[in-house]
Amino acid sequence: MIAATDPARVQRWVIRDRKPLKQWSKGRATLVGDAAHPTSPYAGYGAGMATEDGYFIGRRLAGVDLSDYAAVRQALDAFETPRKPHTARQSQHAYALGKVFHHAPRALQPIRDAILDRTPLMQKVVGDSTPSSILTQLGEIDRAEARFITLLGRGGTHDTAS
Ligand SMILES: Cc1cc2nc3c(=O)[nH]c(=O)nc-3n(C[C@H](O)[C@H](O)[C@H](O)COP(=O)(O)OP(=O)(O)OC[C@H]3O[C@@H](n4cnc5c(N)ncnc54)[C@H](O)[C@@H]3O)c2cc1C
Repeated sequence: MIAATDPARVQRWVIRDRKPLKQWSKGRATLVGDAAHPTSPYAGYGAGMATEDGYFIGRRLAGVDLSDYAAVRQALDAFETPRKPHTARQSQHAYALGKVFHHAPRALQPIRDAILDRTPLMQKVVGDSTPSSILTQLGEIDRAEARFITLLGRGGTHDTAS
C-alpha cells in the first residue's frame, strides 16, 4: 500500500498530547470528546470516551429547561465533574504508552522490549487496568439509565445521573 501510494497524496498528521483541562464548561457552553480530553491512539478509547460523554451529557440535560441559566450550569457541572478524573486518567495513560512505544531513548529500547516481552506489565496495564476502568464507566451508564427510567416512571426528568 505504501509503495502504491503517490507521495503527493500523503498527509502528515502529527499526534499531539495535551494536559487534562481543569474545566470543560463555561456559561452555557461545554466541551465533549477530543475537544475536552484529546487522547492519543494508544488508549484505543478516545472515540469510546466521546460516546460516553454524549450519553452522560444527554442524561444530565434531559428535562432541563434550557432557558434556565442556573439549571443549565448545574447540569453542565454535574456532567463534567465525574467525567474529568476518568478521561484524564485514560488520556495520561495513552500519553505514557505513546512515550514508551515510540520515544524511548535508543539505549533503553532493549530494556523496554525485554520488559514488554517478559513481564506481565502490558497485561496489567492494557489487559486488566484499562478494561476494568471502562467497565466501571459502563456500569455508571447502567446505573444512570436505571435511575432515569425510574424517574420517568414517576413523571420527573431532572438530575437523573446524580
Ligand atoms: C490513528 C488514530 C487511531 C485511533 N484509534 C482509536 C480506537 O481504536 N478507538 C477509539 O475509541 N478511539 C480511537 N482514536 C481516537 C478517536 O478517533 C477520537 O478520540 C475521536 O474521533 C474523537 O471524537 P470527537 O467527535 O470528539 O472528535 P473528531 O472525531 O475529531 O470530530 C470533530 C469534528 O469536528 C470537525 N470540526 C473541527 N472544527 C470545526 C469547525 N470549526 N466547524 C465545523 N466542524 C469542525 C472536524 O472536522 C471533525 O469532523 C484514534 C485516533 C487516531 C488519530
